[in-house]
Amino acid sequence: MSALKGRRCANCGSADCGMDAVAVWDNVSQEYVLGTVYDDGWCQDCSTDTPPEEFELEGEELIAAERAIHTAAATGLLAALEAVLPYARSRAEDMHEDGGGDTCRFWQKANAAVLAAEAAIKRAKGVA
Ligand SMILES: [Zn+2]
Repeated sequence: MSALKGRRCANCGSADCGMDAVAVWDNVSQEYVLGTVYDDGWCQDCSTDTPPEEFELEGEELIAAERAIHTAAATGLLAALEAVLPYARSRAEDMHEDGGGDTCRFWQKANAAVLAAEAAIKRAKGVA
């Protein structure tokens, strides 16, 4: 992973800063999304309009950011696995019925994948 970046006030170093911008309504996501970002920044602590400066995250900030990124990725993978599992299980059952039962090598591989996915979901949820 490339270095994670943070932003801080270029004048006083405060993290309570940002850029002037406009939010626009998005019909698909049903929420406001970032539209235009203007050239001026803001800081709640020193009231400068200088844009925040970028810096490489380190220490506790870096650990917290990396942890949040990994959690979001794991949550997304778990949701995808849970979404696809019923279809994989159904397809494995079809292979078992159509392919000659327990000796069907396609069913054996599909069944092993389903069992591995079920075990991974249980581990991720702390069930097993
Ligand atoms: Zn400031």
